[in-house]
Amino acid sequence: MSKRATPGVPSVGNDPRDSITESREPEEKTWFRDLDEAVIEADRCVQCGSCMAACPSDSIGIEPETGRPTLVRMCTGCSRCWDFCPRSGLRYERLNELEGESPDAAYAASADDDHEGQDGGAVTALLAGLLAAGEIDGAVVVSDGDDPLAGEATLATSPEELFESAGSTYSQTMQLGQVDDLVAESDLVDPDIALVGTPCVIQGAAALDRLQYDDELASVSLTVSLVCTRSFAADRLRSLLVGNGVDMDDVDSLEVVGGALTARDADGHRLLTKDVEAFDAAALRGCAECADAVGKAADISAGNVGSPDGKTTLLARTDDGTAAIEAAMEALDIDELDSTDALDAFADWNRRQAEATIPRERDSEASLTVTYTEHREAYDGTGREPEPLNPARVHQYEEWC
Ligand SMILES: Cc1cc2nc3c(=O)[nH]c(=O)nc-3n(C[C@H](O)[C@H](O)[C@H](O)COP(=O)(O)OP(=O)(O)OC[C@H]3O[C@@H](n4cnc5c(N)ncnc54)[C@H](O)[C@@H]3O)c2cc1C
Ligand code: SF4
Ligand code: SF4
Repeated sequence: MSKRATPGVPSVGNDPRDSITESREPEEKTWFRDLDEAVIEADRCVQCGSCMAACPSDSIGIEPETGRPTLVRMCTGCSRCWDFCPRSGLRYERLNELEGESPDAAYAASADDDHEGQDGGAVTALLAGLLAAGEIDGAVVVSDGDDPLAGEATLATSPEELFESAGSTYSQTMQLGQVDDLVAESDLVDPDIALVGTPCVIQGAAALDRLQYDDELASVSLTVSLVCTRSFAADRLRSLLVGNGVDMDDVDSLEVVGGALTARDADGHRLLTKDVEAFDAAALRGCAECADAVGKAADISAGNVGSPDGKTTLLARTDDGTAAIEAAMEALDIDELDSTDALDAFADWNRRQAEATIPRERDSEASLTVTYTEHREAYDGTGREPEPLNPARVHQYEEWC
């Protein structure tokens, strides 16, 4: 994802929406309340923050109690929150068709020193290498602060901040909606920023990059997607860990590898290892509809599947991704992978699981936008259909929509 040279000018063609999607019917004006009913109240939101990032009037914020999107001022019914939501209006498989499905190169990589990370620490080392080489000015990552279960989107602009944010946080932060504010609140001027996110976050970023006419995410020049098949609601995960006898005061980190979830203390001692399916009730329900485990719209994908222990699989998917890995080579201990069969099989398995759950037909050649009407036709009567608005919020809509 190359940085847009001129804020306000879309990066693909003169009229990207017309070039890659059919026009929407004008009567398909979609409001945030439609998104609320179809995604948030229906418990399908994956807290990616794409709706918040896409809203041109900054009308969407984060509800503190739930960490989900909520209306904070007048909704104009411009439809963008709907259009960019991967659980409703964004036909994200179309992005993958535009990018091509196969990676340009595949590596097993780790940091070239003993810095910590989730697997090989390659993502953190890559970012630190790019920072040292002057290729980026910072990276929006997710730190776990004081709570290993609840992440916090953060802009790291030094190697120290990157190393502090190493490791995986298995919850979502509405990250995409915070990128521009984090950059605006920093001292950086017209920076080049890397964005590390789960595939749903990167789908929103890629769609905004292609379709926006204004300057949302204009500073993002590189996207790194973490391989992901599910994320968790921190409060529900906490309850299940406690129910399994874990003292949460002792937990420093979690890892999900090979189908097992492990909790460790600050010395790395194992507190619990259990089949990750035992924590299904804490998984975000919308993740079951996600068929993009490797983040195909990203410049680089990173995961543990397909590499030996202590290594990270890095897939370069675009010219920008290839150039970034080359620019950071000195920070990495890196070998080309002969085969991506293991990761391909993993992604395929995940896609089949998702396809069995998603009520709408997946079609990488159809319009990038799934209209509200099309969504209703596919979802009504399925158990994933829109739910009535939360009565506590109806007054907001009476005032703001
Ligand atoms: C929810 C989730 C599920 C995952 N599931 C799988 C899986 O099933 N299979 C698999 O192969 N890999 C999975 N991963 C990826 C894996 O855990 C590692 O992140 C990846 O292998 C890179 O390892 P590393 O040591 O190179 O990264 P590190 O050097 O530790 O760097 C990781 C970077 O990601 C950032 N980060 C951490 N959590 C998040 C988050 N939630 N959102 C955005 N950025 C974040 C960190 O701040 C850091 O910058 C998952 C990751 C997450 C967050
Ligand atoms: S899934 Fe993402 S875009 Fe959709 S409502 Fe939730 S946060 Fe917004
Ligand atoms: S499984 Fe998909 S929807 Fe859920 S957090 Fe991961 S990338 Fe997002």
